[in-house]
Amino acid sequence: MDIQSFNPPVRTLMGPGPSDVHPRILEALARPTVGHLDPTFGGMMEQTKELLRYVFQTKNALTMPVSAPGSAGMETCFVNLVEPGDKVIVCINGVFGGRMKENVERCGGTVVLVEDEWGRAVDPAKLEDALASNPDAKIVAFVHAETSTGACSDVKTLVELAHKHDCLTIVDAVTSLGGCELRVDDWGVDAIYSGTQKCLSCTPGISPVSFNEAALDKVRNRTSKVQSWFLDLNLVMGYWSGEGKRTYHHTAPVNAMYGLHESLLMLHQEGLENAWARHTKLHGALRAGLEAMGMSLIVPEDERLPQLNAVSIPEGADDASVRGRLLNEFNLEIGAGLGTLAGKVWRIGLMGHSCRAENILLCVGALEAVLGDMGADITKGTALGAVQQALSS
Ligand SMILES: *Cc1c(COP(=O)(O)O)cnc(C)c1O
Repeated sequence: MDIQSFNPPVRTLMGPGPSDVHPRILEALARPTVGHLDPTFGGMMEQTKELLRYVFQTKNALTMPVSAPGSAGMETCFVNLVEPGDKVIVCINGVFGGRMKENVERCGGTVVLVEDEWGRAVDPAKLEDALASNPDAKIVAFVHAETSTGACSDVKTLVELAHKHDCLTIVDAVTSLGGCELRVDDWGVDAIYSGTQKCLSCTPGISPVSFNEAALDKVRNRTSKVQSWFLDLNLVMGYWSGEGKRTYHHTAPVNAMYGLHESLLMLHQEGLENAWARHTKLHGALRAGLEAMGMSLIVPEDERLPQLNAVSIPEGADDASVRGRLLNEFNLEIGAGLGTLAGKVWRIGLMGHSCRAENILLCVGALEAVLGDMGADITKGTALGAVQQALSS
């Protein structure tokens, strides 16, 4: 057996996640492991909850990291809030809305679909129609930032409509948290989940969630047990409750939590609104470079996310070989299209620590070199100038 330590290459991660992890976070992960019931660890967990309330912009007492990736945050919301027989309206405008539907069905709920074209935001008028024709619906679920397409939905408006019809809301904020405006309390979101590896730029594997009192009432008043033992909030809450009261539920991924703590602290030090503004500004620079080459983003301008850019693949470019060359020759990862957009778009992420001026110059320069070499239908020689101009404006 000839096996050596794994030494991964140093890549620049500009796909749909994970994003580049800051050295400060990698360094935090390497600190000594303590017991998960150690009083010092408990203190750090309390600070982590406080920092999470800041990034979610909420006062919700139940705001905590689930010890598993974003998909587990999604399941935490659905298994706790959906009881067998509950009618749930699920808005689908990409891959992740489809997973919400799967979750509802597996919880024994009945799904009412509100479907929008991939690449568009959820249409509030369609949700309103669904609410009007399903007065017995109990929950509305939708994705804020659809990572499969780059579309941003209007959380505030969708939540208002749901509440007007006495529905609770479940919002997927895996890609939005830290990358664009999100205000859980001001917008009235009832249950929300996110992930560490997108705009928080931490390592993958943890899922911050937050539940308000209305959502917790629904959990407390369930007539059936939550079918997942691991994700049952009634049990998890005992582990994440205040100092001195914590009881063993599972062993937290101790060092991964150091990483999350450091990443949230960095976001706090930068300032949440400054982070949102950085994503918007650098999205403008990336877009200027792509458009100078003659490429275009598929999402209408007022529905676009800054942190995930789905761009049409130009004529004459071979999707897989372009991505392969970017990775092998430039150590640069960008994402492929998913589902109906496979082979039609590339997804360029500008998430968290990946969202830096130097990365945009690398990405636009490398794309121009590879596409030009391949004889693809692009305009050459103006893209980097357009990026520089946008960066200095
Ligand atoms: C990445 C992502 C998820 C899943 O997160 P994992 O950490 O991969 O489990 C869920 N929803 C959206 C919108 C995502 O972008």
